[in-house]
Amino acid sequence: MPEFRFNSFSCTGVIVAGERAKRPFSSPCNAPTSFICPFCKGNEEQTPSPTDIVYYSGTSQWALRCVPNRYPAVTPSAYWAELEYQLSSETDSHNCNLTRQAACGRHEVIIESPEHDKRCGLLGEEQWKRMTHFYAGKIRSFYNDESVRYVQLFKNQGIVAGASLEHVHSQILSLPMIPPIVQNELDNLRRYANQTKRLYWTDVLKKELQSGKRIVETTENYVVFCPFLSRFAGETWIMPRQQRPDMENASKVLLDELGSLLSRFLLRLENALIAFNRQSAPANCEQFTPSYNIVYRNAPRINGKIPELYSWRIEIIPRINAIAGFELGTGYTINIIPPEDFRNMLINNKF
Ligand SMILES: [Zn+2]
Repeated sequence: MPEFRFNSFSCTGVIVAGERAKRPFSSPCNAPTSFICPFCKGNEEQTPSPTDIVYYSGTSQWALRCVPNRYPAVTPSAYWAELEYQLSSETDSHNCNLTRQAACGRHEVIIESPEHDKRCGLLGEEQWKRMTHFYAGKIRSFYNDESVRYVQLFKNQGIVAGASLEHVHSQILSLPMIPPIVQNELDNLRRYANQTKRLYWTDVLKKELQSGKRIVETTENYVVFCPFLSRFAGETWIMPRQQRPDMENASKVLLDELGSLLSRFLLRLENALIAFNRQSAPANCEQFTPSYNIVYRNAPRINGKIPELYSWRIEIIPRINAIAGFELGTGYTINIIPPEDFRNMLINNKF
C-alpha cells in the first residue's frame, strides 16, 4: 500500500510505493519479444475497467480511454497516519515529526490513441482538441472530491523521461495536500501581490513579450516561450495571455485553441529534438525517440477555493541531458542550451 512520508522540519515528503516496481516496461531494451501492449486497441481487457471513454464521432472506436493505474502511487484507501519518531517536544516551536500516512488519492492513466505507434506530435489537431477538453473534465472531476488539495496531470514521453510504456498516454493523480513546490510559489505570489498590487505572472508575460527574445509563438490567447530561468535544455512553457488559475474551467474556445497549439508545437519540438539528436549523436538515430515531460501546473484548492493569484501553465521539458551528480548535490541544474538559443533554433528550424 503506497504511503506518504513527511518531515515537518524540512517540509519535505516522499511517496513510497513499492508495488510500482512491478509494472511492465515496453522499451526496446527491456521488453520481452512476447510483450503485449495493454494500451493498444484489441487489448482492452488487459487494463482495469475504464473510468471514461471518448469515441471518434460517429464510430464505435475509442479515441481516449481513461483507466485506473494498475500500479498506483496513491490509492483511494481509508485515511490513517502515524508518527514514526519525533526529534523535539510538542511544545517546541520547531517541532520535528517524521510521520507516515496513507497515500490517499486517485491515480489514473489516459490512453491517448488506440494505435501503438502514434507519438504526441503525430496525434493531430482534432485529437489534441479532444484531449484538452478531456483533461479539463478529468481535473474538474478529481477536484469534486473535497479532500483533494492538488491535482497533477503529466505526461512522460520516452523512456528517458520516465515512461514505462511507449504507447502514448498521460497520467493524472490527486493529493490531499499542496506540494511544497506549489505552496512555495503561492507564498511568493502573495508576497509580490501585497507589495506591488499586481499579479506576478501577468508582469512576467508582459516583460517577456516586450523583450521578445525568448518568445517562440503567440496566438490570440496564449504565449509560448522559453523561460529566462529554463532549468533544462529546451524547456518551453505555454501560458494563457489573460492570467487565470484554473485550466479545468477554461472556455471551449480556449481549450480548442490550446489543443491546436499543442498539436502544432509538439510536432515542431519533436522534429527539433530528432534533428538535434541526429547532429549530436548520429550513431543513435535509428533507435531515437524524443523524450520529454509535460507538466500541467494548475491551481490547488485552499479550503475549497481556487487561489486567484495563481496562473495555470504547461511546462514542456525535453530530456536532452540527464540529471546527474551536480544537480543532485546542489539542487541547481546545468542547462547546456541557453533558452534564447533554443527559441532561435525552434523558430528558425536550425537543428
Ligand atoms: Zn500499444
